[in-house]
Amino acid sequence: MVESKDIREKLAKIRRQALDLGFEGFGVAPPDVAGAGEWFQQWLAQNFDGEMQYMKRGEAKRLDLDRVLPGVKSVICLSTSYFTTPRTLEFLEARETGDISNYAWNLDYHDLIQPRLRDLEGFLAEVFPGCRTKSYVDTGPILEKPLAEKAGLGWIGKHTNLLTEGVGSYYFLSEILVDVALPPSGAAEDHCGTCTACIDICPTGAIVAPYVLDSRKCISYLTIELKEAIPLEYRKALGNRIYGCDDCQIVCPWNSYAVATEEPAFQRREGVNKLIELMQLDDAGFRSRFRKSPVKRIKRRVLLRNVAVALGNSGQPEAVPALTQALSDPEPLIRSHAVWALGELMGPEALGVLESALAGETDATVLAEIERIKTV
Ligand code: SF4
Repeated sequence: MVESKDIREKLAKIRRQALDLGFEGFGVAPPDVAGAGEWFQQWLAQNFDGEMQYMKRGEAKRLDLDRVLPGVKSVICLSTSYFTTPRTLEFLEARETGDISNYAWNLDYHDLIQPRLRDLEGFLAEVFPGCRTKSYVDTGPILEKPLAEKAGLGWIGKHTNLLTEGVGSYYFLSEILVDVALPPSGAAEDHCGTCTACIDICPTGAIVAPYVLDSRKCISYLTIELKEAIPLEYRKALGNRIYGCDDCQIVCPWNSYAVATEEPAFQRREGVNKLIELMQLDDAGFRSRFRKSPVKRIKRRVLLRNVAVALGNSGQPEAVPALTQALSDPEPLIRSHAVWALGELMGPEALGVLESALAGETDATVLAEIERIKTV
């Protein structure tokens, strides 16, 4: 059919343009999330989304893409690699530095990918004059992983990240919804086989069954999404992780195929993760150190909460002065986690420091933490 040949040629042009813009993976999915939608509803029903209220708020749109872009006919799914350096679990041995998830080692990916998406939307408008589009990179309610799987970009692994044969999983997903019917690419197949490496390594047992993540236990959730106290039962498991966790990806055999990107925005920035220095950051220092970084999104109070836990796990007595200073921080969340960390580092001797530094303390969470230490 002439029309079919024409649309395929147009699609090939769009694909070339996407690759020229820096996207590495490209595929087209129909705007149908039926099976994945049911799965998502069951996941929500078990409260596996924890405090991520936006998941439930966006439920209707996630289940029906027509509510996102009326008349949508296709979803162009795209991937952008952030892999720069091979990783092992050796970082866990570091006492003085905190670990930041690979994707957040430098600049905020939204700032790189959003302009590329806008450029590709502009190109779509040239190829299909009058078409309507809507793009997302983690910026709206869309079941991006099931759609990317349907678009052939990769399969959802047992750790629930998308991964690609011969590529691995160190990449960002983004999407453009368009009201033009494009030929779908065909779904990817699952290649996890009998492997269970990600399930076995997860420090908190967050992968509660193959392909099922209880976010409330996941260290990425605990260090990034959760805004209040880190539950006591997970604090030791955090180790020195202060922003996210890559363990399930590090052990995945498919990531041994990952090819490093040369994108400057994702190359590692050195010297930003010394724990004692981080514990002493004021607001201005935090903003300056993490300017344009994804880390800035969790704000100082959450980062310093995580840093206090990492220092408590570090076994470093050199951290005691910085943690003692944090007892006078205006943020109760930071004070209460500094109390926990001092208890871990000093044992019962911490009580003397705490009782003099927190003599006028009135916050219930901080006082409860001191009482807890008394009983340990
Ligand atoms: S570690 Fe194994 S089970 Fe987990 S996603 Fe990778 S291949 Fe699949």
